[in-house]
Amino acid sequence: MKELIILGSTGSIGIQSLEVAEKNGFRVTGLTAGSNINLLESQARKFKPLSVAVADTNKAKELKIKLKDTDIKVYSGTDGVCEVAVGRGDTLISAIVGIAGLKPTLCAIKAGKTIALANKETMVTAGEIVNNLAKENGVKILPVDSEHSAIFQSLEASDRKLLKKIILTASGGPFFGKTQKDLENVTVKQALNHPNWSMGAKITIDSATLMNKGLEVIEAVHLFGVKPDDIEVLIHRQSILHSAVEFCDGAVIAQLGTPDMKLPIQYALTYPERTFSYGGLSLSDIGTLTFQKPDTDTFKSLPTCIDAIKKGGIYPAAVNGANEQSVKLFLEGKIKFLDIAEFNARVLSDIKNVKNFTVEDIFNTDKLARELVNGYYLKGKRYLSLPLLIVYGRI
Ligand code: NAD
Ligand code: MG
Repeated sequence: MKELIILGSTGSIGIQSLEVAEKNGFRVTGLTAGSNINLLESQARKFKPLSVAVADTNKAKELKIKLKDTDIKVYSGTDGVCEVAVGRGDTLISAIVGIAGLKPTLCAIKAGKTIALANKETMVTAGEIVNNLAKENGVKILPVDSEHSAIFQSLEASDRKLLKKIILTASGGPFFGKTQKDLENVTVKQALNHPNWSMGAKITIDSATLMNKGLEVIEAVHLFGVKPDDIEVLIHRQSILHSAVEFCDGAVIAQLGTPDMKLPIQYALTYPERTFSYGGLSLSDIGTLTFQKPDTDTFKSLPTCIDAIKKGGIYPAAVNGANEQSVKLFLEGKIKFLDIAEFNARVLSDIKNVKNFTVEDIFNTDKLARELVNGYYLKGKRYLSLPLLIVYGRI
């Protein structure tokens, strides 16, 4: 029986992974969360894993008390998450959000676990290191991200050497068709209103800025060993064709399905087998599928990511760190929607690139990028407060 460890089990992907595990009769051996101990407790009572971990150390203490009537071991902090990641289990679902997922995923690769990868930031920030480590340890990395799962499935149609290009589709998010002017004052609520997918807050904002597609271009470069220029991004509003590949003879092979993450999660866990359906697709109900080029003048984070991966080195980690901090500030109501893309691009011009890098360089770059973004925000705040000071007669 497959034994599963789920990192980030209280999140959108984590919860759906547990549904897939239950439906397929997999044994769940480890679960982790950032801080939501109430949900983690109920998941632990239902699935009876051997161990759980909570990144927030105070919350971990609380959970330990709650679970004291069970045999479940409770770990705490990032090290605790890594403990669970290397515990019993053959497959690990990496579904923490952000660079916080990198360290535990690297630990699991070193421990020889098969990785079902949802946490794209792991590949974005450390693709080369992850791939080398996976090769050294004979570890398979199977994509969970719906587009990359679609590419992975489509590639099975022929020889990888005959691949000409990848067609990576994007829904376009809630602000498709809008101009920079329209987006000046959009609210957090509007940005969180994704038309097709229900996901965690960070990736939902990334979908609204098209940063998500930029991160996915970088993820695809590392997962499939292609160049950024071999990837064409297309806006496909219906989110039915999850991505495609074109072979040397012009044949385009795609994977289509309803927008439900349970399908790509399950395929990563059952590959190369197929098991249950989560609802078939009626093409006649859908009627029309549309494709168009993205508006990179309005959604600047997409070209910024492509620039970062073309320059390589620590730049993908820099743009990722900048984005994580910018999105945090936007969700806290501190910066405007368009500031996210501006700050992400500025970080690349303010950081000197390093070509041969270590995991430590990546974490240092992430920290620096976040500090730079905080600096832009604070500087902007000073400028913004000037007119107010004049109004109050202080200047
Ligand atoms: P989410 O915010 O719903 O869940 C994130 C999970 O990570 C939660 O369990 C949370 O407790 C945990 N977490 C947060 N910070 C942590 C930390 N510092 N240390 C340890 N754990 C922490 O996010 P999500 O939407 O499920 O996305 C998870 C990952 O999957 C992201 O990388 C995202 O890009 C990717 N992904 C998500 C979807 C989707 O449909 N939600 C689709 C494709 C890819
Ligand atoms: Mg995706």
